[in-house]
Amino acid sequence: MDANKKCVICGRAAVFYSSYLKQELCKKHFERMLIKRVKSNINLYKINNKSFKLENQNKCGKEFLKFIFKGMESSGGKKLSSYTLEDFAICVMKFFLFHDAADKRINNRSFSPLFNVSENEIISFFNLKNIKLQSVDRNRKDKVVLDFLKEIEERRPGGMISVVKVGMKLGII
Ligand SMILES: [Zn+2]
Repeated sequence: MDANKKCVICGRAAVFYSSYLKQELCKKHFERMLIKRVKSNINLYKINNKSFKLENQNKCGKEFLKFIFKGMESSGGKKLSSYTLEDFAICVMKFFLFHDAADKRINNRSFSPLFNVSENEIISFFNLKNIKLQSVDRNRKDKVVLDFLKEIEERRPGGMISVVKVGMKLGII
C-alpha cells in the first residue's frame, strides 16, 4: 500500500487499486464498490428472486456470495454459480487458443454474478477483514492460461475484463 495514494471518492488512504474502475479506493469504498458491482449484475440480468441457492464451483466465489447473500440462502432459490472473472476469462481464452468448447455461461440454468469480479479482489476483500482465503487450485492447462492472462493484466490492468467482454459479445460465455 502506497501512503501517497488516495481514495478517489473520499480522499482517505487507498488500500486497493481497482483495475475494473481504474481507481484507487479506501477500504470502505473498495468493499462498497465490489458489493455494488455484484448487486448491479443481479439487477442488470433482472434476477428478481428473493432467495438464492449458492453453488460451489469456485470456493473464493462461494465465500463472497455467502457474505453478500447472507440470510437469503434457500435450496429452492435461484441458482447462483460462484465462477469468477478468472473462470470466464480462462474459458474464453481456451476457446480461442485450443478451440475448446466453452463450458460456462454467465446466465443459463444458474446465474454467475461474479463474472466481472476477480479472485484477487475477493481475497483482498477478506484480507481487509483479517480473513485469509487461498486462491483456487486449477488443473495444469487452466493454470497455464491463467498465468498468461495475469501477465496481460500486469501489462494492461483490466485486460482480463476485456477478454470476458469479448467473450460475452461473441456469445461464447
Ligand atoms: Zn474512500
